[in-house]
Amino acid sequence: MFNVETIRKDFPILHRQVNGKPLVYFDNAATSQTPQQVMDAIVEYYSNYNANIHRGVHSLSQEATDKYEQARLTIQKHFNAKASHEIIMTSGTTHGINLVASGFTTLLKKGDEVIVSALEHHSNIVPWQMLCERTGAILRVLPMNDEGELVMAAYADLLSEKTKLVFVNHISNALGTINPIKQIIEQAHAVGAAVLVDGAQACPHLKPDVQALDVDFYVTSAHKMCGPTGVGMLYGKEDWLNKLPAYQGGGEMIAEVTFEKTTYADLPHKFEAGTPNICGGIAFGAAIDYMNHIGFENIATYEHELLEYATAQLLEIEGLKIYGTAKEKTSVISFNLKGIHPYDVGTLLDKMGVAVRTGHHCAQPIMDYYKIPGTVRASFAFYNTKQEIDTLVSGVKKAKMMLS
Ligand SMILES: *Cc1c(COP(=O)(O)O)cnc(C)c1O
Repeated sequence: MFNVETIRKDFPILHRQVNGKPLVYFDNAATSQTPQQVMDAIVEYYSNYNANIHRGVHSLSQEATDKYEQARLTIQKHFNAKASHEIIMTSGTTHGINLVASGFTTLLKKGDEVIVSALEHHSNIVPWQMLCERTGAILRVLPMNDEGELVMAAYADLLSEKTKLVFVNHISNALGTINPIKQIIEQAHAVGAAVLVDGAQACPHLKPDVQALDVDFYVTSAHKMCGPTGVGMLYGKEDWLNKLPAYQGGGEMIAEVTFEKTTYADLPHKFEAGTPNICGGIAFGAAIDYMNHIGFENIATYEHELLEYATAQLLEIEGLKIYGTAKEKTSVISFNLKGIHPYDVGTLLDKMGVAVRTGHHCAQPIMDYYKIPGTVRASFAFYNTKQEIDTLVSGVKKAKMMLS
């Protein structure tokens, strides 16, 4: 049974004070908090079997290797990848996208087209712009509307046999929109284009099935789903990962090295140069276990309740506008108070112990679309409560009084 008070006991940080007030942590879309179970996995690693992996014959190294590879299997199972070597351990979403963008340098030619959605995080825009500069490929934009939804009617017109790649996020970090990625993937495949889905914002809220989606590449970060920073994963279909050239060179990614020629290791090691974030990878596995223990259906139901509760209350505040009103959205509310800069609202909320994000949320094109400098973003996780939302709402009311 889902009991938020029991769950909150797993998160020591939720019981601290900020500026003399109980912390209300509503910046979950930037990074999530860490349960004791994940911290225990980190302490256990450094206390008991800290060693480099895949290299030593000694017992510690073998234990560390086993635990690390066990985490890969946990990730494989969670995302329903066909094979564990389709899971590449990365330092996070940004790393995964750059790996794929770099690989496509040899696969694209001048005049090829790639499609980016208008709702992307900068990390799913900039690496592709760099790819276009290297190859002469053309970047086209799938537009958005006032609700913060992708204009799917425009998608068919953008797609052609010139389209080689489409990249889109599963859920927008700035607005919370859940994008119709299954349809996006189907239509892209119909013209022979591959699709990369940025799942950083989806994985805290739902359990993606990469085979059911038939997605070519799916990337995410552990730190948005109760894991540590600096670790994540890239899923790629085996055929695609074999087609892409190696990314970084170094130890661990080779089969044989001579000064004349080096041959590369098989998947997944071909893309895993150097000593990885071993402890982080193991903790990522622990985070996935933790979230599955809570249950993604429970999480979705409860977070939807929080979203509806907060939306209704915030909309009662005169002059408050919510950006991102898609029919399908997760527990992210981006808003502004008329005539007041989001930064000032965020600063006052912090004084009241409420942590929100203010600014462009690494998605400047969305802010440009709405012609605003940024928003205040409150993003809820399954360990947040309605009482905390009450604190936010009264804080926003107070901020409005003080600033207008
Ligand atoms: C957080 C986020 C990223 C970047 O993740 P990193 O862990 O910083 O690499 C990319 N895309 C979306 C949608 C995000 O929410």
